[in-house]
Amino acid sequence: MSSPNDGKSRVLGKFIASKIKREFPRANLGVLHEPVFGGRELEYTSQCIESGFVSSVGQFVNQFEEQLSHRFEGRSVVATNTGTSALHLALIGAGVAEGDEVIIPAATFVATANAVRMCGAIPHFVDIESSSMALDAQLLEEYLGEVLEQRSGGQFNKKTGRRVSAVVVVHLFGHSAPVESILTVTRPYGFPLVEDAAEAVGSLYEDRPVGTSSGLAALSFNGNKIVTTGGGGAVVAEDASVALLLKHLSTTAKKPHPWEYFHDLPGFNYRMPNINAALGCAQLEQLDSFVEAKRSLVGRYAIALGDVGDVELVTEPSRGRSNYWLQTILLDRSQDLPSVLGALHEEGIGARPLWKPLHQLPMYERCPRSSLGVTESLSERLINLPSGVGVAI
Ligand SMILES: *Cc1c(COP(=O)(O)O)cnc(C)c1O
Repeated sequence: MSSPNDGKSRVLGKFIASKIKREFPRANLGVLHEPVFGGRELEYTSQCIESGFVSSVGQFVNQFEEQLSHRFEGRSVVATNTGTSALHLALIGAGVAEGDEVIIPAATFVATANAVRMCGAIPHFVDIESSSMALDAQLLEEYLGEVLEQRSGGQFNKKTGRRVSAVVVVHLFGHSAPVESILTVTRPYGFPLVEDAAEAVGSLYEDRPVGTSSGLAALSFNGNKIVTTGGGGAVVAEDASVALLLKHLSTTAKKPHPWEYFHDLPGFNYRMPNINAALGCAQLEQLDSFVEAKRSLVGRYAIALGDVGDVELVTEPSRGRSNYWLQTILLDRSQDLPSVLGALHEEGIGARPLWKPLHQLPMYERCPRSSLGVTESLSERLINLPSGVGVAI
């Protein structure tokens, strides 16, 4: 389907592409986020292979958890095989049960909602603020006031009759969400807040690591995140006993014993393998330099796109220090997003739109939700540009 803005927007796309290519002449611009292995990755993974410890047993998993714990103010860390499983465990740790509703944004990667479903719960979407693209605290306050009623056993959705048991805030593209304002809203209801910090490893909220403002956070080390273990994730928990339970669940809930197989709960096979942790240890050693490189990219994009009209570069909210996982531009409303994206791709720029808002996906379209005007408007204007560390060097 062609829109009246096709021509104009294709020209804009080509113009953006030429500016980006001029600014980054040597970079691989065809991918959104490429990993960089500039440290001891080969050395550590070789140690796994030579020792035979590539799987669920080995020193690197403990070392990786310790390194992470050190970065997260000494909190307990449970390394997992994906970010999605980390989020699933974090929700269990927060007390989410079958049949509950969990408040989440619709502007996020589908895994946030999938993890809610993995608990047998139902995502309940609330809109975001346009500045940080995270849950809007004020709107949340008004909305919860309208839809909730207190009954014995907790807070219930007046319309569906289901218990609402937690709120998940997503630190989108590495920018810190307004966690303190959200906590002010959620505390009186007694809702635990879970941070989906999958994209924000290395970011700060004020001067603290993103993921330490609430009791539980989930991280991801997928191949496209700022640091990668190939595939992997972690739960960061304030309460050490909760972390112990989640670690137990992540290892099929098997009671330690030299030979006996005794499992005391329905558990999961969510533990991070040692060879992935080895990669992760080497990557974490470079996290600070990766953050610096990615932060320098926003300035480069500002220079590259400075004189391009109809394009606004997204910068970090002042409350934090972003890892700038993905660089983001917003198009003027008069532009046609698919035409701009099409032109960028023709020019070899691996740009991407926002994930399809989750309430527009078939399995989540009937979930309860607030009005989602900001989410929908951003999804028609937002483009992520090549953002890997390699683009900056
Ligand atoms: C990447 C990501 C996840 C899930 O991580 P995986 O490791 O891919 O399972 C969850 N939430 C958000 C917001 C993400 O970007």
